[in-house]
Parts: sequence; structure tokens; C-alpha cells
Amino acid sequence: MNSDQKIERLTALRDAYDGCSRCGLCDPRGRSRANVVFGGTNVDADVMIIGEGPGAQEDENGVPFWAEARSGEMVDKFLASMNSSREEVWIDNMVMCRATSMEDPDKDRPPSKTELAACRDRLSEVIHIVDPKVILLLGRTALKLAKKWGDYEDKEVVAVREGITSIVREPDPRRLALEVPGSMSTVRYTAFATFHPAYLLRLKEADLNRKNSDLEMAWRVWRHAFRMADSFNYIYEGTVPPQRGVDVE
Ligand code: SF4
Repeated sequence: MNSDQKIERLTALRDAYDGCSRCGLCDPRGRSRANVVFGGTNVDADVMIIGEGPGAQEDENGVPFWAEARSGEMVDKFLASMNSSREEVWIDNMVMCRATSMEDPDKDRPPSKTELAACRDRLSEVIHIVDPKVILLLGRTALKLAKKWGDYEDKEVVAVREGITSIVREPDPRRLALEVPGSMSTVRYTAFATFHPAYLLRLKEADLNRKNSDLEMAWRVWRHAFRMADSFNYIYEGTVPPQRGVDVE
């Protein structure tokens, strides 16, 4: 599929989900979402980044990991440190509408199983259209994709159940295999999982050792993901890989 065909299909998909009411997130307790936050930006991206769902600022602005929100700012910094930018990757979420707590409508919560299931076909279609070389899952909820669509490449299913922390803390790059179903076929994608920026931002300055070590581990996974995509490009297309893991001022 060429870029124009991808844009055409993504636009049609976006239109199909405009005003979507497939799950309860369309109208959280009578307070309608501001936007259905469809992913973006590069339709030919080698790396696709998938988070959980939009927060307040993403809901307001209609952009996943909005650059002026703290998590979005951190994503931009990770990208810059990979010698990359938003314009080179595709950024998406498991669900496109903001999930808020029953007790406090200003507080975000993880989407439920039902909500994740309602938005999953849309995400699998986006993955098939963009067709990235590597998928980078951010956080525990995104890791549920691995449970639904595949297991560790080495079939350590138990480790998947242990959750995101044990996965990221393993010294080796935790590569996953996602079998993403589509209307025509199921495609296997190489994936990595790392901490969600919101988790890293919540780590307290007082626990500096933990903060630094988790940040470093998260960064290593980002680098593994970008280097894997570079390796595919080099092997299949002969493209000389750019330097990854550069210092950021
Ligand atoms: S989260 Fe997805 S399935 Fe649920 S209402 Fe929003 S767009 Fe529709």
C-alpha cells in the first residue's frame, strides 16, 4: 500500500469512528468526551508507539500524547534522544476516548476490558494500514495487547502475567510477538514493552535511585525498539541506520 492509499484508508477509518458510541467512553456519566482522539502522524512509520488512552489535555486537543501535556513532553524527549521525532513515528492509544474515575470525573482511570475490546478492531486496522516494523507498547494496559494478540516470543507467558515492571526490569530487551488479526489476514509484529511516561512522571524525586533506574530501563527499551527497526531497514533495504541514543540538551 502506498502513502496515499494509507492516508485514504486512515481517513475513512477516522470518519467511521467520528462520534463513535461503541462503548461507554463516548459519554462518561453524561459528560461527553471533547474528542475521539485518533492516532497520527507518519503513515509510513517504522515504529508505532501505543499508549493507554487520552488524558484531559489529549481529550481537549484531539492529539494522542499532546506535546504540551507532561506525558507528551516526555515522549518527545524520548524521541529526541533516539534522534527521531513525532513526524517519523505513528502514535496511538488502546482506546480513543478518555476514561475517568466514577468517584472523581477529573481523575483518569485505566479503560475496562469491555472498553478495550470495543476499540481493539480499530487499533488492529490502524496497525495493518501503517504496517510498522516495530511496535512499542507504553505501560501495563498496552501490554494487554500482548496477552490478547500473542505471547513472548520465547513463550514465557507467565512473565506476561507478572506485568510491566518485571518485563522492563529484565536485563535483556523484552521482545514480544504480536499476532494482530485483520480483515484479510493475521500479521505478526515485533514489539517491545516499556513504562508509560505517566508512571515515570509519578516517581518521586525523594526516591532518586528508583527514578533514575526506571528511567534508564525505559530508555533502553526505546533504544532496542528503534535499533530493531533500523536493523530490518538495513537488512531488507540497505538503509544505513542513524545513530540512536544521542545525548539531549
Ligand atoms: S473508546 Fe473507542 S470504541 Fe469506545 S467510544 Fe471511543 S472510539 Fe468508540
